[in-house]
Amino acid sequence: MCGIVGYIGKKDTKSILIEGLKELEYRGYDSAGIALLQNDKIEVFKAVGKIKNLEEKVLQNTTCCTNFDTLTLGIGHTRWATHGKPTELNAHPHLGVYSYVVHNGIIENYKELKEELTLSGHIFVSQTDTEVIVHLFEYYFNQYNDANRSFKETIERLHGAYSILLITKSEPNKIFFMKHGSPLAIAKGNDDGEIYFASSDAPLIGLANDVVYLEDGMSGVASIYGIEFSHSVQWSTLPTNKLFAQKNGFRFFMEKEIYEQKDVVVDSMMGRLKDDTIVFDELTHDILEGINEIKICACGTSYHAGLTASYLFERLSKIRCTVEIASEFRYKEPLLTPDTLFIVISQSGETADTLEALKMAKNGGLKSIAVCNVDNSSMTRVADATILLRAGIEKGVASTKAFSTQTVVLWMMSLYFGTIRGVLAKEKLEIELQTLREIPNSLKVEDKLHEKCRRLSKRYLHGHGFFFIGRDVFFPLALEGALKLKEISYLHAEGYPAGEMKHGPIALADPELFTIALMPQHLHYDKIKSNVEELSARDSTICAISPLPFELSDDFINTKKTNHYMLEFFEMLIVLQLFSMEISVRLGNDVDMPRNLAKSVTVE
Ligand code: GLU
Repeated sequence: MCGIVGYIGKKDTKSILIEGLKELEYRGYDSAGIALLQNDKIEVFKAVGKIKNLEEKVLQNTTCCTNFDTLTLGIGHTRWATHGKPTELNAHPHLGVYSYVVHNGIIENYKELKEELTLSGHIFVSQTDTEVIVHLFEYYFNQYNDANRSFKETIERLHGAYSILLITKSEPNKIFFMKHGSPLAIAKGNDDGEIYFASSDAPLIGLANDVVYLEDGMSGVASIYGIEFSHSVQWSTLPTNKLFAQKNGFRFFMEKEIYEQKDVVVDSMMGRLKDDTIVFDELTHDILEGINEIKICACGTSYHAGLTASYLFERLSKIRCTVEIASEFRYKEPLLTPDTLFIVISQSGETADTLEALKMAKNGGLKSIAVCNVDNSSMTRVADATILLRAGIEKGVASTKAFSTQTVVLWMMSLYFGTIRGVLAKEKLEIELQTLREIPNSLKVEDKLHEKCRRLSKRYLHGHGFFFIGRDVFFPLALEGALKLKEISYLHAEGYPAGEMKHGPIALADPELFTIALMPQHLHYDKIKSNVEELSARDSTICAISPLPFELSDDFINTKKTNHYMLEFFEMLIVLQLFSMEISVRLGNDVDMPRNLAKSVTVE
């Protein structure tokens, strides 16, 4: 999720690691740490918050690794907590007895492993999933006295997503590495034998020229004498532009975030989506005891995710669900009864209006859940339970991956609630679980689709307004599409329930009114088709998004044929995000930092 760096060589290892971690700051993190190994002496530094806190500690304390003629190994990490609070104890590197590990990602089966290792005498000090890796390694090393074999046995036992660097006094000249799911690159330094590791290009630029981007399942061991890989690898040349590297080669952070949605939803589902059920370790089974209603409170994009969820809670959990805009809720003198479960949604966990609404609910004696992306944020401290999105930092002010992960998490919650209430048939649940597994595929940005959005965007730069229309969950999606366009293109857009157009807004229809019609095959297709036909008859300019051909539209974006409306939902989300971004680019706007907007709205 966050960042990893590593180094083998004779240069100033601690500075290389700290500078490398600074290059990864753009990924967002809550704590950081490094471990240095010279001869058989290990030094470790960890700090909560910014890298400069870590840097100060290192500068004040280091005694080891000051001899630059001697080989030094180092591993470093910025942490985006997934398991355990962002404290110094939970910061990486994690220690066994004589080895240290840094890890990005999630070890899905850490509970089982921790139980097993505890029984055989290993003592755990952190709340992280990561700590099992180093203990497992030492468990095997104590048996085999062979670090290579022990590392291999260790990684075979891990489930989940991870990139790992491990150092051990038992082999003081080697760094063991593994990649599965989370990114990891290895580069040859400009000096003889020097090796660098990093979870993205930025820390490597200027220090190395040749790089290997590890593929999933690759592992190995590196020393000054060379690198042994588990598979054959392909070396390539590093790019030279740092900002470009931070954006992974994309033009904007927003674009990068749109493209990475297919990966972050996998993290959101990890450990929660099981073969035949949904599990939330964060919630207890009695969560719905005495509950007759769910109330969701949020702002902006999170409000749209909440609105989407309200359809799913009623449909799949058979529980009444209302959604409110937090700034309205606060001052309406709401009637709060303890049979209501209060759910707040916020990317940052700091949104002022939503936070205040949560406090009101809490004071009213309601059970509460925060669905947010940032651990230890204010909402996580107030709510009874927190479900983290695990989307990684979102830099683009216009939210993209927070919305997709919110929707996925809330959809899983509706299945979880449906299961514990006993209202969801087994066959229905199976279909939903299978559909969840297919989401990454629906969120994959196909070149053809992006190119189509880019080409069409030039026809939508004027006009007197946009109507995004949809029905059911495609109505909140229409609201979200309109909000994206407003935020970054500064064009006027409204999201509307398709069936409502004839009750007023259709009066605006003319060729200069652009209608973006969400026409999924698997949810009320005939109804929405009639609504769009009504607009077409009044000569509105129509861009239809659908897997089924629609002849009355002026423009048509063809989405994939699937067998579930939620898969259509996620592909259409991608279309709407790309479409707004391409319009914004053509209008010459600042895509990542649109005018008048802030990323985290901490004022009411
Ligand atoms: N799951 C690990 C933790 O919570 C690693 C998180 C990360 O990728 O930074 O410590």
